[in-house]
Amino acid sequence: MLEHFDEGALVSVLTAQPLDRRLDYKAPEGGCLTGAFVEVPLGPRKVLGVVWGPGEGGYDLSRVRSVIRVLDAVPMRDEMRQFLERAGDYTLTPMSAMLRLATRSPGLGDPPSMRSVYRRGQGEPDRWTDARRRVVEVLDSYGGLSFTLGELAEMAGVSTSVVKGLVKQGVVREEESPRDTPYPRLDPGAPRRDLTPEQAAASDALREGIESGEYGTTLLKGVTGSGKTEVYLEAVAACLASGRQALVLLPEIALTAEFLSRVEARFGARPAEWHSGVTMTERRRAWRMVGEGGAQLVVGARSALFLPFRELGLIVVDEEHDTSYKQEDGVLYNARDMAVLRASITGAQVVLASATPSLESWANAEAGKYRRLTLSARFGAAVMPELASIDMRAEELPSNRWISDALAGAVREAVGAGEQALLFLNRRGYAPITLCRACGHQIGCEHCDARMVEHRFLKRLVCHQCGESRPVPTECPACGAEDRLAPVGPGVERMAEEVAELFPDARVAVLSSDLFGSARALKAEIEGIAAGAADIIIGTQIVAKGHNFPLLTLVGVIDADLGLQGSDLRAAERTFQLMRQVSGRAGRAERPGRALLQTYQPEHPVIRAILSGDEEDFWRAEAEERRRAGVPPFGRMAGIVLSSPDVQEVFDLGKALADRCEPLRRIGAQVYGPAPAPIARIRGRHRVRLLVKAEKGAPLQPALAAWVGQFKLSANLRLSIDVDPQSF
Ligand code: ADP
Ligand code: ZN
Repeated sequence: MLEHFDEGALVSVLTAQPLDRRLDYKAPEGGCLTGAFVEVPLGPRKVLGVVWGPGEGGYDLSRVRSVIRVLDAVPMRDEMRQFLERAGDYTLTPMSAMLRLATRSPGLGDPPSMRSVYRRGQGEPDRWTDARRRVVEVLDSYGGLSFTLGELAEMAGVSTSVVKGLVKQGVVREEESPRDTPYPRLDPGAPRRDLTPEQAAASDALREGIESGEYGTTLLKGVTGSGKTEVYLEAVAACLASGRQALVLLPEIALTAEFLSRVEARFGARPAEWHSGVTMTERRRAWRMVGEGGAQLVVGARSALFLPFRELGLIVVDEEHDTSYKQEDGVLYNARDMAVLRASITGAQVVLASATPSLESWANAEAGKYRRLTLSARFGAAVMPELASIDMRAEELPSNRWISDALAGAVREAVGAGEQALLFLNRRGYAPITLCRACGHQIGCEHCDARMVEHRFLKRLVCHQCGESRPVPTECPACGAEDRLAPVGPGVERMAEEVAELFPDARVAVLSSDLFGSARALKAEIEGIAAGAADIIIGTQIVAKGHNFPLLTLVGVIDADLGLQGSDLRAAERTFQLMRQVSGRAGRAERPGRALLQTYQPEHPVIRAILSGDEEDFWRAEAEERRRAGVPPFGRMAGIVLSSPDVQEVFDLGKALADRCEPLRRIGAQVYGPAPAPIARIRGRHRVRLLVKAEKGAPLQPALAAWVGQFKLSANLRLSIDVDPQSF
């Protein structure tokens, strides 16, 4: 229920400013509702806020300022405010940051000019300044698009007065913002009749869940190509037919194009899109239409979870095991978990779809918390690829060669038959190490504890941590020797060289996220490959995700052991998922496929599990190990990373935290560390990590808050708490 406050009543307003509490204001003329988006004065500025409830009072009321105005946006619903509060509590994130997640609509970040948009006008300014040039450049480079005042100023890195100055001269034109148009209606029509019996049973079960109008989570497990998408589209149909909205989360933007076409084929129109590749104007429209009910279905990235849905009935998390659902900077949240939280507050259904579920979801299904639906066979004639390993110990490869004879033979066969082969190596660039043959020095980044990786297409060494790059030197930076630097180890670019030598006539495509300037370019490349424009594809993990290449019949994994090194307890799970996903790319259409895994340890239990295909066995064994270690999903964990330019300072604070862990002891939690973080220095900041482990039911968050709350941080120090870290 939204409460109404009369003019002059005290209201408590949450703003996106980094304050640690809400502020009281007086309701404006005409009053306001809880949840109303308002503009309030803060010092000399006007900022966006949301009316959170009645004010607290208890002080000199004559000094309380008034809300300036209520914005023209649907008030934030109770359940959304509850969701933000619970998600903030769970991730230990201040509410101001949660509000920022929920209002990342450019239109709302920018209240004073919501009614105006700005685009390129005529002519040139009377005088060019850097700031003015940047504004004009932004407008020119986005040809024809319009922006709000705040967007334009932010993109150009200038103050709004620069833009206004240009408006006076006609160089920038101010226009009334067009009313947002609703998205075309999607027609759920009748249920699809030609599902296989197994698909139909799954679809019926999901439809029933939707029709119950209650919360529930389903793990939809099925091998690649078994029709998971077909099945959850039926759940979407049921949801739309019930008049509620649906959200489908995808792990990668490059997958949206194919998905949008499928939605269009099924429902007759395209849904709203929400991700970083969507223009700000479109995002503003999506934000508003989702709130007003003019968008029935949203397809998007993890941040779409924070859109102001009017009546959400279904959230699908496709490829739910994908690590990109975890946001690793700013607010550290896992979209899969937050989807379940949001749905449980709203009374919506969640579908977690995957061929290789996360251990968390598998365990929840085992425990009966999630319902499990399984699609066991590929659709139609497609069969699962045959998997085999190639024992690299038996291969005598010359140095700087990574493709075994056995694999090369298989590639030759596939290409000879007019089919495609994919060589998978999860390493960007040309070579992971650049080594001086004279002194043994390995070139590292100056700012990070990481090696510089040679990227031959760019002709540069690049740090994958901070992005810094420099030309490949000819002399060793350590000993000065000339021409003794040598690339060591393979990256995808180097594989391309080897492939060109082995198969001079083949058409080769390299798919690596860094080789494409834009999502659009990557999408075009993927479409080309799907249509048969390449014989051999060399790719990093972007090829593992959901793309459909009908001609692909052979997958060769160059180094199946790559992910098994290191001490991360999730390494086995990740390798298992990645290998199964990559293998699943082969033989999706009529032609049968096979996958060959090059490995030096064919008897490793993870490699054996991948080959045998007995997933349940693997998960059970993995679960047993985690249970014994008391780690997620059978115990709770949090990672605390401290960073500072001063190495002494981070270690001192780390030790102090470890010493004064009384609040954690009280809940029976243990503290490990401080130890150097997995990457001990990034962008010049030294990093130290502590891990906290607690039992499943322990109240971890309040204890963590009390624990770190004992310390006051110097301006140099940063502390981040990651509840449920990806690696431990
Ligand atoms: P998954 O999501 O499990 O990888 P998809 O839903 O993408 O599987 O299905 C794989 C392919 O099989 C797609 O091209 C899809 O259109 C097709 N397909 C699946 N089920 C059916 C069906 N019942 N009738 C027709 N085509 C189907
Ligand atoms: Zn770096």
